[in-house]
Amino acid sequence: MDKLFNTDIRFLKGVGEKRALLFARLNVRTIGDLLHFYPRTYLDRTKISSLDQTQLYENATVIAEISSPIKEAKVKGGLLIYKFTVTDHVTDMQITLFNQKFLAAKLKVGQSYIFTGKIQGTYFRREMTSPEIEPLNEDNENGRIIPVYPLTSGLSRNIVASCVKSALSMLPEQMEEPLESEILEKLSLIGLKKSLLYIHNPKTFEQLNEARKYLVIEEFIKFRLGLLKLKTRNRQKTELSISNTDISPFLSNLPFKLTNAQNRVISECLADMTKDIPMSRLVQGDVGSGKTAVSAALIYAASSNGLQSALMAPTEILAQQHYKAMLSLLPDNIKIGLITGSMTKSQKLKIANAASNKEFDLLIGTHTLIEEYIEFDKLGLVITDEQHRFGVRQRSLLSSKGRNPHTLVMSATPIPRTLGLIIYGDLDISIIDELPPGRKKISTFLCDESYRQRLNGYIKDQCTQGRQVYIVCPLVEQNDKTELKAVDSYFENLKDNFPEISCGFVHGRLKPSEKEKIMQSFAKGETKILLATTVIEVGIDVPNATLMVIENAERFGLSQLHQLRGRVGRGEHKSYCILMSDNKSEKTLERLRIMTQTNDGFVISQKDLELRGPGDFFGQRQHGLPLLKIGSIYSDMELLKLANKIADKLYNENRITPALSKAVNSFFNDIGVIVFN
Ligand code: ADP
Ligand code: MG
Repeated sequence: MDKLFNTDIRFLKGVGEKRALLFARLNVRTIGDLLHFYPRTYLDRTKISSLDQTQLYENATVIAEISSPIKEAKVKGGLLIYKFTVTDHVTDMQITLFNQKFLAAKLKVGQSYIFTGKIQGTYFRREMTSPEIEPLNEDNENGRIIPVYPLTSGLSRNIVASCVKSALSMLPEQMEEPLESEILEKLSLIGLKKSLLYIHNPKTFEQLNEARKYLVIEEFIKFRLGLLKLKTRNRQKTELSISNTDISPFLSNLPFKLTNAQNRVISECLADMTKDIPMSRLVQGDVGSGKTAVSAALIYAASSNGLQSALMAPTEILAQQHYKAMLSLLPDNIKIGLITGSMTKSQKLKIANAASNKEFDLLIGTHTLIEEYIEFDKLGLVITDEQHRFGVRQRSLLSSKGRNPHTLVMSATPIPRTLGLIIYGDLDISIIDELPPGRKKISTFLCDESYRQRLNGYIKDQCTQGRQVYIVCPLVEQNDKTELKAVDSYFENLKDNFPEISCGFVHGRLKPSEKEKIMQSFAKGETKILLATTVIEVGIDVPNATLMVIENAERFGLSQLHQLRGRVGRGEHKSYCILMSDNKSEKTLERLRIMTQTNDGFVISQKDLELRGPGDFFGQRQHGLPLLKIGSIYSDMELLKLANKIADKLYNENRITPALSKAVNSFFNDIGVIVFN
């Protein structure tokens, strides 16, 4: 069976070299891929009407016999028209076809066909123009459910459907089933073979549901098993376990008292680090929950055990902020270095050299950290911040600079636990579910252009009170094609509207040194209004900023809006977030209103997921995980839970059959990973 599944699609009847290239565009390369190339949706042709039941101007599927000769006529421009009459022996209907010479030639007077199309004409003289026509046979006489596949130009629905059919016909009588019969029986699942037949050619919706249920569960089980296996495989023993977990000197040096949640997460991590299997943990905490202090505690512990740490951030600004934060959080005896892409090569080499001589206990940086020349003397702890911007590969490149170091991933994207388990299946998870005391709710408002005047007054008020303001626009440069707000033209307006207030702007196209300068000036309070693109989304910490204005808010995802909003409300002053949108779509406004109703990142991400639905949630691709072909993390949540339970049981009881491990491998083949070898 593997042989069949792995066979190049070129060799399938009706495919060949040319079509194989077209199929490759749909990511279908083998017969197995084609069998797992599920229909996007289905057309319901199960309701067959008699002609006199059909309603004018509505779609209908009818069975009728061709009762007149097919007349061909040529009209101006060379267009060919075919006209004929059909009957179900009670009522007649006129059919018109345009330019369908090939089809017309195949139709036979006196034979019955299924016609699907819109009923036109009058009740006395029904008509259908260019209907779909299928010869009647025993397979379709009771109507059909027609699969609709994702297509690409050159591959029509009929071609795909007939290739799928020939692949299905090659399935062996007795197929190796990935799931044990015990599981199939217990959950009343129909098994792989039937599911493949039914998902592509369901006779009833019941069959379709059964097929889908099986395939979704199987897919989730494969996903979970693969991650479980990868998780243990990545954890070879380490000699970097720590013995001294006393962080009291660090705690007494801190400018604040840690929250209970921070303390709990730190102990979870320290417990990991004392083991001879390296820590591999995700710390999830809403914006402002104090992840930096948690990582500082662990860096402190590593250093008191003679280990160096590396902290990687996705942007230069963020790396710099971490550098400053660490200087203030860690005692002076901990030596901290910073390396970023904008440094000269000789500066970088100097820092690399210092790191390899152990002159730094902690090296903070951007992607530069993973460059080849960076070496450590004894790297024991690797931390990546804002994980959704790094891939699995980058994380492991950094880890490879030590010998199985402990790894910590910090993410501000709060996701429901069940999802975390699947997205970050290769990591243990700790959640900081508490904000530092005294944080006030950020009042959020959704406004349209009619509030512009008042908004300006509001901005001015905040500045007069000594506070600072962020304004976020979706674009850098004004562009004639859209009405979207852009930093460049907005900045000109800003200067006109607030001549007495100092304004600055920052976006991704500025040189890092320019960005740094303006950020510094904003952090020091010299610049009062900072206009920006989403470059400020991650991590920036200016406690005096109390107002966040987001222009064209409809352009941003909920989780992103939540991250942006998290830039304010970081100090003692009451903070506000104003979402500007002139969008009229009720759906969009409803989505934005969620922001005004809650400050809870977990609730927001759940809603975000619900609204976005399945698909490449959270940029699954970016995480380097295989894409789900049929299961939806959101709408199949119950099946997901069930599958996770089964997978865990199979894994713990060592009950992974060869058929199942092969199925897992072929699922992960998508990302070039061999799970079981
Ligand atoms: P995030 O989790 O978003 O990375 P940070 O680590 O930047 O959050 O922390 C946000 C702010 O809260 C920082 O100014 C930090 O100094 C402060 N902070 C962190 N922990 C505490 C605490 N336990 N008590 C008071 N302030 C804290
Ligand atoms: Mg942070």
